[in-house]
Amino acid sequence: MDIREIYTQIITEESRNTKNKRYLPSPTNEEKGHNPSCGDEITLQLEIKDGIIKDASYIGIGCAISQASTSIMIDLVKGKTLQEAKNLCQTFLDMITEGLDGDDIKILKDARAFKNISTMPARVKCAVLAWHTLKNIIDKM
Ligand SMILES: [Zn+2]
Repeated sequence: MDIREIYTQIITEESRNTKNKRYLPSPTNEEKGHNPSCGDEITLQLEIKDGIIKDASYIGIGCAISQASTSIMIDLVKGKTLQEAKNLCQTFLDMITEGLDGDDIKILKDARAFKNISTMPARVKCAVLAWHTLKNIIDKM
């Protein structure tokens, strides 16, 4: 199995994973993200305390890529500081749009599965939706 197939498998499995698809009991921050070109719509909820993302979740509809990307991002940023989360967002966006690779994207772990999306321009907006939405929340703080 080549690396692309493994990554496709991660995306398919994660898009069916609904553990992060819920409302938080006490969110401190909420932001909507919309990708009109595909119809993806998410509401990202965070519980931020003492500068740390204590909990995160999302509600929304959309294609497998947008849902999987959102869920993987949530797993990655939970427990991180806002600065760390912002760095993860920027690294993901640079991977997709600038071709960042190798050691520079190690911190993204499973989110590296979306690297090949950069070769499918129509799907790029699906993959980056959640990361832009999270970055918007952090930039507003
Ligand atoms: Zn989409």
